[in-house]
Amino acid sequence: MRCIYCGHDDSKVLDSRPADDNFAIRRRRECLSCGRRFTTYERVENVPLVVVKKSGKRDIFDRNKLLTGLIKACEKREISLEQLESLVSEIERELMNEPEREISTEKIGELVMNKLQKVDPVAYVRFASVYREFKDVETFMKEIENLLKKTREGRQDP
Ligand SMILES: [Zn+2]
Repeated sequence: MRCIYCGHDDSKVLDSRPADDNFAIRRRRECLSCGRRFTTYERVENVPLVVVKKSGKRDIFDRNKLLTGLIKACEKREISLEQLESLVSEIERELMNEPEREISTEKIGELVMNKLQKVDPVAYVRFASVYREFKDVETFMKEIENLLKKTREGRQDP
């Protein structure tokens, strides 16, 4: 942290404490060159994720919306709410780690499908049918065929 008095690049931290109801950290610093003291505030960067829909409309990413969609897709399946919540958290974390703050609904859909496929194939197909907006029955059937093939191949594994 650059000293506000002499411009020196190095300072030592004398004291750190939470500020603004824990949304920031206040640090008391001492310049290693001139010895003068100054205070800095560190704030957690909280830039929301923006979801870009096919229509070009933008929305703030809402994990509850995603969770609701998953609960619907997993109706009557043996997946606990806890499992779904951790799936959503995993997805959210991955999205937060992306360098872009704008993410297409398609990309989110793909992420969800990749994970759901491993958890529950039936829920996956349900979710996929909504997200991929299958244009015709043929595409939908192909998807199910692929899925069955994968399941069969999986069974052959020792
Ligand atoms: Zn200084």
